[in-house]
Amino acid sequence: MVETTTPAYTESTFSVYEEIEKMGHEQLVICHDSATGLKAIIGIHNTVLGPALGGTRLWNYKNDQEAITDVLRLSRGMTFKNAISGLNIGGGKAVIIGDAKTVKSEALLRRFGKFVESLNGKYITAEDVNMRTEDMEFIAMETRHVTGLSEERGGGGDPSPVTAYSTYMGMKAAAQKAYGSESLTGKVVAVQGVGQVGKHLVEFLSKENAEIYVTDISEERIAHVVEEYGAKAVTMDEIYDLDVDIYAPCALGATINDDTLSRLKCDIIAGAANNQLKDEEKHGKLLLKKGVVYAPDFVINAGGVMNVCAEYMGGYNREATYRQAEKIFDTCLEILNKAEIEKIPTQEAAIKIAMKRIQDIAQLKSML
Ligand code: NAD
Repeated sequence: MVETTTPAYTESTFSVYEEIEKMGHEQLVICHDSATGLKAIIGIHNTVLGPALGGTRLWNYKNDQEAITDVLRLSRGMTFKNAISGLNIGGGKAVIIGDAKTVKSEALLRRFGKFVESLNGKYITAEDVNMRTEDMEFIAMETRHVTGLSEERGGGGDPSPVTAYSTYMGMKAAAQKAYGSESLTGKVVAVQGVGQVGKHLVEFLSKENAEIYVTDISEERIAHVVEEYGAKAVTMDEIYDLDVDIYAPCALGATINDDTLSRLKCDIIAGAANNQLKDEEKHGKLLLKKGVVYAPDFVINAGGVMNVCAEYMGGYNREATYRQAEKIFDTCLEILNKAEIEKIPTQEAAIKIAMKRIQDIAQLKSML
């Protein structure tokens, strides 16, 4: 029989307001400029603790819905990350839509800076995937509300090494929980994505004599860590089937999903990528059921935001930031223990702690 009604596109059922309501955002800012080709979205999730801070991601999204979903998920994650890290800042994030190889220009980045400036400090931007310190310099020509600037300009430089360090600390806390020892010597670790953060993580792991598998889209980046640290390269798909102790997602989000969960054979998942669980509730519960120790992404990758926040607040000191990032070992272990006691997924335990801080401070502020 011939279908007489036009099938509905799934996109047509997507409601921005429903998503915002569900995730609890304060504001979503759509930025557009034909002259420079800028298409950007700024997500401000929660500003109870302070102005929303979170990096800008440049990505070639398939469609607008994918970009909106990403900025909503990422900015919400920043709220929890900043809260659990004890920072007095709220959660936000931005995405620029386009091909990183072709879309970037001084004019486009400065136009984006103007949009950030128009929010009067309610949102502070920094680096994320495909955005570098040199891009922040252009943004800084148009707004003061940018951080992650180069050391030559008095900034804290690339935050990625600190992110890698905090991720490494979180991984060690997960090892303490799973194996009764924080040592990663001899452990087999699969690092997915060896970009800015992943390559530094590989360096830490190699210093501790872990056995390292790596994968990336970029042959050049793989070649670097293979030559420099003796890592073993695998294809992008093979990474999920390896017999490893630890899986460290350091590329994009949602790699813990229905497909990969049945393939992963690791004891621990600890990586830097944001939003690793495709469906927070469902996949968090499945990890618990499988007995995998999951170090929540927003807890252990907070070194980067600690670095850019310290820079923005003034009086930046790199050693102090590393000391702050080191404490993520204790924070992560506390969360893993809480989750075990309450028999809940570790992500849920972490969100509970973050939300409690936000609610306590909101109450405190209402009393002032
Ligand atoms: P990056 O762009 O430098 O590196 C990402 C790497 O992943 C690239 O080399 C890319 O080629 C690779 N990649 C992309 N898709 C892949 C796939 N399917 N399989 C394998 N490799 C793939 O970005 P980054 O700054 O290293 O950030 C990595 C992750 O960590 C992101 O999710 C980011 O949001 C998160 N993060 C970064 C920071 C930071 O300080 N840079 C802080 C917190 C969280």
